[in-house]
Amino acid sequence: VSTINGTSPLSHSNGTTIPLSTFSRNSFVNVEKGDPVAFRPYWEKVRDECTVEIKGDEWMSYLGDTNNLCWYMVPQMRDAILRLHNVVGNAVTKDKFLVLGTGSSQLYQALLYALSPSESSHRPINVVAAAPYYSEYKDATDILQSRLFQWTGDAALYDKDEPYIEVVTSPNNPDGTLRVPVVNSGVEGKIIYDLAYYWPQYTPITDQLDHDVMVFTFSKCTGHAGSRIGWAFVKDIEVAKKMIRFVQLNSIGVSRESQIRAAKMIGVICDGYKNLKSIESDHLFFDYSKRLMKERWEKFKGAIEKSKVFTLTKYPTSYCHFNKDLSEQYPGNIFSPMKSENTYSYTAFAWLKCLEGIKDGESYLEKLKIRTRGGGRFGVDAKYVRVSMIGTEDEFIELCTRLSNAKRE
Ligand code: PMP
Repeated sequence: VSTINGTSPLSHSNGTTIPLSTFSRNSFVNVEKGDPVAFRPYWEKVRDECTVEIKGDEWMSYLGDTNNLCWYMVPQMRDAILRLHNVVGNAVTKDKFLVLGTGSSQLYQALLYALSPSESSHRPINVVAAAPYYSEYKDATDILQSRLFQWTGDAALYDKDEPYIEVVTSPNNPDGTLRVPVVNSGVEGKIIYDLAYYWPQYTPITDQLDHDVMVFTFSKCTGHAGSRIGWAFVKDIEVAKKMIRFVQLNSIGVSRESQIRAAKMIGVICDGYKNLKSIESDHLFFDYSKRLMKERWEKFKGAIEKSKVFTLTKYPTSYCHFNKDLSEQYPGNIFSPMKSENTYSYTAFAWLKCLEGIKDGESYLEKLKIRTRGGGRFGVDAKYVRVSMIGTEDEFIELCTRLSNAKRE
């Protein structure tokens, strides 16, 4: 098993095993949010390589690269993003415009603006996503009560012959399923692919995706959610221009300091794969993070089985070209043991369904001092709950302990 300093990813960075819980019986375990801090031990190990120094006179301008359509993006950021997709093989980047955002959340807003009909006489375009859908889409769509677009709910129920935007999240938040558009309408819709979790630690990289609008986020790729970096690949220049105009009016670009830091971290990841033969295996980010997710999922499944209160979604597994390519390219190195592990699903959230008799999963878990996000927020029944798998180690361990003890009264 390739791990940092030969310790399991579930161990602490100083090589000791997991300490006894720091939670008291009365404190809550909060697995409600999707704050991706799980990979911190990796970044702690490579902290010096990742350090960026920014001097007082640097990165003062609003501008990043006046030769680029996305004028606020610095060339280092653009190059790092293209390099990352080249290493992972999850998206076709050729013949597309790259638009940077302050997190992918800003790009979601920018896309709604850019994909809405421009004639002012038009009714708001319908925005849909198949339930269970990412809980923020609804509020992010309706917060300003725009005349351009409106949240219309579950894409599977959409039956209007009116223009629409469908958001396809794959793998999906909350339930980890791999998705395709589902709307069945006489009108051709516009599709936003939200690929926040299409990275090898969560799901097999089956295809180099080549859609008209694909959105990614640094937050869930490396775990650096605080940098607020997201990006979109867009086929149509007019859509890209409108998105860039939105970002200009909304925040006059994206923090250049954040871009420099994100570019540095991405560079460290990619250098690891480039120098694969010489580098110690524990420096490979996706190798590390995938093993961490795998260990967590195994532990979590054990806890759910013991609890006898919930059932887990059955996740489809498929073949991962990223891991396969690596194992074939470098036989005999750390990727060889992964050959048999090219089919998997270690999604960032667990999606639980209560067994008969429990109507509200969130309230049930609240009594066990476990804070989760209930099905209602995702457009489905309250017997479902979402649990974050990417929080801190302590929280995760305590979650498993409490779930294993959660025998039904
Ligand atoms: N899309 C999905 C599916 C997400 O889960 C998240 C984060 N929870 C986002 C978008 C937003 O991410 P960010 O703004 O940090 O890029």
